[in-house]
Amino acid sequence: MRIGVLALQGAVREHMRQIEACDHEAVAVKTVAQLETLDGLVIPGGESTTLRRLMTLYGFREALCESSLPMYGTCAGLIVLADDIEGEEGYLKKLNITVERNSFGRQVDSFESMLDIEGIEQPVEGVFIRAPHIQSVREGVSVLGTIDDKIIAVQQGRYLGVSFHPELTEDTSMMRYFIEKVVSL
Ligand code: GLN
Repeated sequence: MRIGVLALQGAVREHMRQIEACDHEAVAVKTVAQLETLDGLVIPGGESTTLRRLMTLYGFREALCESSLPMYGTCAGLIVLADDIEGEEGYLKKLNITVERNSFGRQVDSFESMLDIEGIEQPVEGVFIRAPHIQSVREGVSVLGTIDDKIIAVQQGRYLGVSFHPELTEDTSMMRYFIEKVVSL
């Protein structure tokens, strides 16, 4: 498979490394023209306001709203995929969920946790950095994981979103899930 990582901002190289570790081809995506060559796209974490601005500027909002490319968003990438961001209209609106930003505290409150994720046998190592959580899910969305009653992983058909940063660890199981169970749907 040829999996792109949106390379405008955030943890791009880390995701590319994980795609390669899963024995698939990783592409740094900088232009909308590259989207046509892909089987799936990762939207990395970073800062979602900046990320949304850059995506609009480079034409990704329009292209991705129309596209049915499978997508996997981590942290800020999850926010970008949501239908509703704290009561405001979402951006790509691919996941029928409401997200709340920065819901685990500030940068200094960053933490790591082993997470039970539906569909993955071993606990998944997750790093939370100013992470959002999913306040509510609506029709068509499956909850894949929670921490302290907060939803932190969801899937809706070809779209996958997690609050944390699996790419900052050596654990490739979330990426493998995306490629094998979401892209290959
Ligand atoms: N707090 C950031 C935001 O709202 C997301 C943080 C992250 O991606 N690590 O965009």
